[in-house]
Amino acid sequence: MPGTFTYRVPQEYNGAVNVGARVVVQFGAKSAKLYSALVRRIHQEAPQWKCKYIVAVLDIEPVATERQMEHWEWLARYYMCTPGDVMAVAMPAGLKLASESALAIHPDFSGDLSSLSKYELQIVQLLSDYSVMRLVDISRAIGVQKIMPIVRGLIERQVVVMDEELRNRYAPRKVAYVSLAEGYESDKAQRELFDALEGKRRVKQVELLMQYMQLSHFGREAVPKRDLPQGSPLQTLIKNGVLVVEERIESRLEHYDQSQLLSPDTIQLNAEQQAAYDYLTSAPHPVSLLHGVTSSGKTEVYIKLIHKVVQEGRQALFLLPEIALTAQLINRLRRYFGDKVGVYHSRFSASQRTEVWQRTKATGEGRYQVLLGARSATFLPFSDLGLIIVDEEHDPSYKQYDPAPRYHARDSAIVLAQMWGAQVVLGSATPSVETYYNAQSGKYGLAVMRQRYGGFSLPRVEVVDMKEEHRSGRVKGHFSHALLDAVGSALKAGKQAILFQNRRGFSLRLECDDCHQVPQCIHCDVSLVYHKATGSLRCHYCGYSIPVPAECPHCHSTHLKMVGIGTERIEEDLQILFPDARVARMDLDSTLQKNQYLELLSDFEHRRIDILVGTQMVTKGLDFEHVSVVGIVNADNIINYPSFRSFERAFQQMTQVSGRAGRHGEGGRVIIQTYNPHHQVIVNVVDNDYQALYDEQIQERRVFRYPPYHRLIEITLKHRDAEVLDEAADWMAAQLRATFPGRVMGPEYPLVSRVRALYLKVLTLRFERTEPIADAKRVILQIGDDLAKQEGLSAVSIHYDVDPY
Ligand code: ADP
Ligand code: ZN
Ligand code: ZN
Repeated sequence: MPGTFTYRVPQEYNGAVNVGARVVVQFGAKSAKLYSALVRRIHQEAPQWKCKYIVAVLDIEPVATERQMEHWEWLARYYMCTPGDVMAVAMPAGLKLASESALAIHPDFSGDLSSLSKYELQIVQLLSDYSVMRLVDISRAIGVQKIMPIVRGLIERQVVVMDEELRNRYAPRKVAYVSLAEGYESDKAQRELFDALEGKRRVKQVELLMQYMQLSHFGREAVPKRDLPQGSPLQTLIKNGVLVVEERIESRLEHYDQSQLLSPDTIQLNAEQQAAYDYLTSAPHPVSLLHGVTSSGKTEVYIKLIHKVVQEGRQALFLLPEIALTAQLINRLRRYFGDKVGVYHSRFSASQRTEVWQRTKATGEGRYQVLLGARSATFLPFSDLGLIIVDEEHDPSYKQYDPAPRYHARDSAIVLAQMWGAQVVLGSATPSVETYYNAQSGKYGLAVMRQRYGGFSLPRVEVVDMKEEHRSGRVKGHFSHALLDAVGSALKAGKQAILFQNRRGFSLRLECDDCHQVPQCIHCDVSLVYHKATGSLRCHYCGYSIPVPAECPHCHSTHLKMVGIGTERIEEDLQILFPDARVARMDLDSTLQKNQYLELLSDFEHRRIDILVGTQMVTKGLDFEHVSVVGIVNADNIINYPSFRSFERAFQQMTQVSGRAGRHGEGGRVIIQTYNPHHQVIVNVVDNDYQALYDEQIQERRVFRYPPYHRLIEITLKHRDAEVLDEAADWMAAQLRATFPGRVMGPEYPLVSRVRALYLKVLTLRFERTEPIADAKRVILQIGDDLAKQEGLSAVSIHYDVDPY
């Protein structure tokens, strides 16, 4: 619902209601449903109508700050949605109690009932009988209407949890650790042990023990079992009682040993890094771009900048495009800032997120000063924000597409920083065209780092002409001779390889060799993707899935052929070509479960994987020491994506994934397979020439009236019935054209014209960048509201996407 709503404060709560705190309200005319709501304003202007009373007060202390709510309101206005849309994604579920919320006993609850009050006890008893219950039902069962304040207390003390959290419950992770058995503590005992094993010529066991000694700092610490080579030497040492195994539970919010912290002062910046740091700290602009090639050491510069802000007692927000990247960075930041680092992202459980929320807002003990997270971290209740770093600022994951608010976290962070008078540093090796334009035109500051840290050269990029390779019969599977050769030599040298393919699944579709039909999704206008691992054909838009048919559903031919290749296929082919190599795959399918992506990354980092195959997930800012080869299996597929940004994106993805090679040594190699070796983007990637790419792109943007010269607003209409949709789209287009002549494109079907059984049509509006468009947005929303009043069109749903890219 748009807007805010007015309620009366009952006498008993006079003076107890605060802006930003939660209260319980009843919403809707007839319904008895209760919700928790945020107080936005307290005033004395009695409305014309009779308004309802607040049912109860949940907090005395606000959970949201004034500035935070102003930021949300800016988002709602700019991105054409309601403040409620923003609040729904901004607040952790743990803070959004409603009478429909389902509750259960917290899995970590000790069972200690002694501290519970009478009603609390009744609630716990009900939940232990029924396991999950809605708040309304509990309220009815114990005959207490104002139950939310009681439940709130139970949630805060982690006696009960909300069901949403249960669904993605954080199972405690057990990890096996190995340590030396009792009696081997002394140097003498250890020496005798080695002598004895050597005497018996147990070479393998000695080797393993050496490795253990190194990792354990000479027996002082336990070592995760998975970090040691698995096999009989390890088994034997355990069996003989030399090493012992124990299971430890890895905690969810780890505590960091404050005595082990390093001071950021120990980081020695090189000349380029120092120059960038000096420039950024004397900041001529509130927003600056740090344009540094891959592995130039941007993170080290960030750490220095954060250090400065932390010393001043303020907070720093570090944004990353994807949580998959946080694992490495958490460790790098915790090494310096320890307990001051808070991590926030959507894969955390509700209680974890609530805790981070509270510690961001805190001002005293336990306060977080360094917040690390993906785009939703911009919604946190900062108490004193001084710096925002947006790493890999070009990354498309910063944009939220669905649901509303359809916001861009980089842009929203810049506005947030403005409110705080905080500095913004946007970092990238391949900046977005918009950001670079702003840096070139002097709107943003610009610091450049051209060298890799340590003086290593950028990897050599080789282009393989696949037409030529096929002609000369040198293609095996989907791999050129050059790529196989590069991977083969890397493996021989004990190095690792990354292979990038931007499609998941085994083959992109099945096609009948006789009638050429391709199985399609019944809900969406796309063909189904073949997943061999599950033996199914699946829709990547709605999840619809069928078993692989034995024959063509149309002509019953059994000649079905696979067309196109995905990551699964590449993984399988590689395993056949390199039977001794450990091959793993990282894509949406292989990382669906919690921690899977963390485990994959950790396995790769600790060299338990030799070749990692993946989608764009593997292209992002990861820092692995031993990767010497990167292969781009099909560059054409990346370049030919239909969007005004496709060349920019292709350059970014290819340059970024290339940047994973040879970060800590010479001789990094990148192999790009293509049928178009002279394509401009490929030439730019080979030359590592961002400027050339930018010059070309900015021309096109000007000529074809795209960002940064123009702003786009995309309006998507959806309906089950294509005819109703047509009528609605035409009506809306006519209205918009009358008001905004020459600015409306469409209506047209998008690339995928039907999703989840709904037909889609898109209208796009274009405005010059310099034009204020706040009024235009209001008019557009009004036209949208009017559409709903047209006979027969009220069920057409509309969504607005401002800056839809
Ligand atoms: P980028 O983010 O620019 O791709 P990183 O910050 O990951 O690069 O740096 C690449 C590698 O170089 C990292 O392993 C990092 O620890 C190391 N490095 C960079 N700068 C320094 C420095 N000043 N001192 C020590 N190591 C550094
Ligand atoms: Zn057929
Ligand atoms: Zn579908």
